[in-house]
Amino acid sequence: MPTYDYIIIGAGASGLLLADALGNDRFFSDKSILVLDRDQKNKNDRTWCFWEAGKGQFDDILYRRWPKIHFAGEKLNIKPEIAPYSYKMLRGIDFYNHYLQKIRAYPNVDFLEESVQELAEKNDKVLVLGKNQTFEGRYIFDSRFEYQKLKSQSKYPILQQHFLGWFIQTDRPVFDVDTATFMDFSIPQKGNTRFMYVLPFSTTEALVEYTLFSENVLEKTEYEKAIEEYIAQDLGITEYTITDIEQGNIPMTCHDFAQENTNRILKIGIAGGWAKASTGYTFYSSTRRVTQLVNHLKLNKPLKDFQKKNRFWFYDLLLLDILFRSNHLGRDIFESLFRRRKPQLIFKFLDQDTALPEELYIMAAPKPWPFIKALWGRLF
Ligand SMILES: Cc1cc2nc3c(=O)[nH]c(=O)nc-3n(C[C@H](O)[C@H](O)[C@H](O)COP(=O)(O)OP(=O)(O)OC[C@H]3O[C@@H](n4cnc5c(N)ncnc54)[C@H](O)[C@@H]3O)c2cc1C
Repeated sequence: MPTYDYIIIGAGASGLLLADALGNDRFFSDKSILVLDRDQKNKNDRTWCFWEAGKGQFDDILYRRWPKIHFAGEKLNIKPEIAPYSYKMLRGIDFYNHYLQKIRAYPNVDFLEESVQELAEKNDKVLVLGKNQTFEGRYIFDSRFEYQKLKSQSKYPILQQHFLGWFIQTDRPVFDVDTATFMDFSIPQKGNTRFMYVLPFSTTEALVEYTLFSENVLEKTEYEKAIEEYIAQDLGITEYTITDIEQGNIPMTCHDFAQENTNRILKIGIAGGWAKASTGYTFYSSTRRVTQLVNHLKLNKPLKDFQKKNRFWFYDLLLLDILFRSNHLGRDIFESLFRRRKPQLIFKFLDQDTALPEELYIMAAPKPWPFIKALWGRLF
């Protein structure tokens, strides 16, 4: 049976970032590493966006970047510069091609197409049962994610960031290529937290995405109708063609994903709780988690000790408690934040890089009463 020191299940964002970090580090050169995915990863199945200050590790493979963002609420409409940050976009396919090529070049890393069905943990090893083959690994990093399993817990509310987007092409120039619409809440909220997200790639091409932070997904036609109306009424575009479609949903929850970890199996990526609970952004924070994980492995610490809750987890929990019970309050909360605080500080806060005084300053921006109620509910 093929045997490896580390087996990474899933060659998506977290799996490939981890495989690259291990393959690229001489510390792990005597470790054998296997990456398994049920797909060949040769499709552009998503676009990742993130904000980053200055230069970054993905700059060479970025598709676009924007120096300004657009935020709109009920009464607010701003297009601030976000320097030193820029809002960056990476296409899934460019990421997969780049990282698969890199990991194939490492002598100690193998990549195989295999659908993993089950894991069987023994004392000092784990059997990875694939559809066609079985492997043996000393440590497993598993990015398979199951929504149904998450839904079966009730301790923490579960919202979803769910969206459907159209890539459109217009005949005449209409888009401002310097500005990504980060959140446009000026659309009907219908009792939820709903916004439009627009990424212009050129003056005639953009991704227009209808996004909700809410408990349940919508019928496909409802997303489509909202996008159609927005393109016609808000963007004033009458002639366009849809060139592609993107759809997804990302869990927003403070559920303790780490409870599934053992000393041989660590869940990574969304399955490991790496998605920021209050926003669904996962990609950029995964790069940081991978760095922390590599350091953790170097220190030979038990996998079970990898993830710890911090105060940002609690801030996210309060926001999710509010949005779960009163989903319509989302617009008001985000609008107050962007009205009263600079986007740079908001980004820093969402990156969990702020100090306590900055966090208190951020949290003083929205109306306090829903947060006090949520805090009371959690404490007592
Ligand atoms: C359309 C879309 C757009 C998104 N946009 C953003 C964004 O702009 N910014 C952001 O931060 N996040 C975004 N996300 C969230 C995104 O999912 C994460 O950023 C990131 O892809 C999560 O990484 P991951 O490794 O957890 O999962 P994935 O990248 O989904 O990787 C999981 C891998 O596991 C493989 N797999 C699953 N089951 C098996 C099995 N049984 N056997 C073998 N392999 C298996 C899958 O094929 C996949 O390759 C988006 C998601 C979608 C769907």
